[in-house]
Amino acid sequence: MIIDIGTQRCSRCHGALEQVGEGVYRCKLCKTEVLDDFGRVKRFLGDRTDIPVKEIYKATGVPVSVIRDFIDQGRIEDPEGKEICQRCGRKIREGRYCQDCRRSILLADPANGKGGQRF
Ligand SMILES: [Zn+2]
Ligand SMILES: [Zn+2]
Repeated sequence: MIIDIGTQRCSRCHGALEQVGEGVYRCKLCKTEVLDDFGRVKRFLGDRTDIPVKEIYKATGVPVSVIRDFIDQGRIEDPEGKEICQRCGRKIREGRYCQDCRRSILLADPANGKGGQRF
């Protein structure tokens, strides 16, 4: 459900809606809160970023394709990650290496150490 506050009305009293947050709307008259697809997903996730898309769908009823659109648009984080760590193959959300590899590369690479190699 995508809410158009220009035409959509409160289901309880038919009052006009106003937007109070991303995907969150409120009736100006009875103050009933209305969430659109994004609002429902966002509310369910809270600060969590590791909930599989299927779980989000089960909990919110928002179609997987719509959730994927939100991920593509960068509105929510991709719980499954799109990038692959070039060192260990783990799925990561961004960059070239996972956090563990980034740390060990930093430790192992002499260029990042002090002094470097001398002949
Ligand atoms: Zn209302
Ligand atoms: Zn890695």
